[in-house]
Amino acid sequence: MIDTHAHIAATWEGAEYEGGTAGVLARARASGVEHVICVGAGGDAAEMAAAVACARAYAGVSAITGIHPHDAKNVDAALWQTVSATCALPEVVAVGETGLDFHYDSSPRDVQVAVFRQHIQLARALAKPLCIHTREAEELTLQVLREAGADAVGGVIHCFSGTAAFGAAMLEFGFYLSIPGIVTFKKAGELVETVQQAPLDRLLVETDSPFLAPIPYRGKRNEPAYVVETLAKIAAIKGMSVAEVERATNENAVRLFGPRLRTQLAG
Ligand SMILES: [Zn+2]
Ligand SMILES: [Zn+2]
Repeated sequence: MIDTHAHIAATWEGAEYEGGTAGVLARARASGVEHVICVGAGGDAAEMAAAVACARAYAGVSAITGIHPHDAKNVDAALWQTVSATCALPEVVAVGETGLDFHYDSSPRDVQVAVFRQHIQLARALAKPLCIHTREAEELTLQVLREAGADAVGGVIHCFSGTAAFGAAMLEFGFYLSIPGIVTFKKAGELVETVQQAPLDRLLVETDSPFLAPIPYRGKRNEPAYVVETLAKIAAIKGMSVAEVERATNENAVRLFGPRLRTQLAG
């Protein structure tokens, strides 16, 4: 199985793991995880560099880099040059996470939209998919993606927990939905509905570590080893075997992010 979104080399407080990145990856491998995408998207160059270094240091790890919508206000010409150069590296399989977060509003909304558009243009120039973060901004997210022609490269709505209507619209637009541990929570009603209705060939799984640990780890620091719980829940919802869902989501990840996703965590 593949954890398509985990902050395992993050430089911010709260993202420290027992045994460091090596410990995280050893436990992931022991629980059957074959590949991890390490997301380096904060507000500076160090965050991106840490993810790329992680992907270089460990077999079975790839990177996604960009500037998080929270930090869109930090983007100036120099930082953007670093984003462009970093996203072009072979270890980087997608551009992001970018998008709109109108829940926290950590950056002004117009700045978030402008930086979101910059990421889409970059993804198109590099012919790499997009990793989208969106919260309380579904309509505008879809509008910006449409206007900027994001369907040319495709991508994923990471940590999908939106409305069923938004999920359906993104599937129609050609994007994938990455299902987080939230689907295991008791109150996951609408997300369960989305998973039921989405075609299996358009779903991915992720942890979004260190956040949102699935049941039975809820409240603890999340890590890639726990993605197995999310996969099992999807299998239960769809009435399929875990092996079937694992095979399909692995294939989906390779289709979206490229053949690098076939490389496996080593012991
Ligand atoms: Zn996010
Ligand atoms: Zn994230």
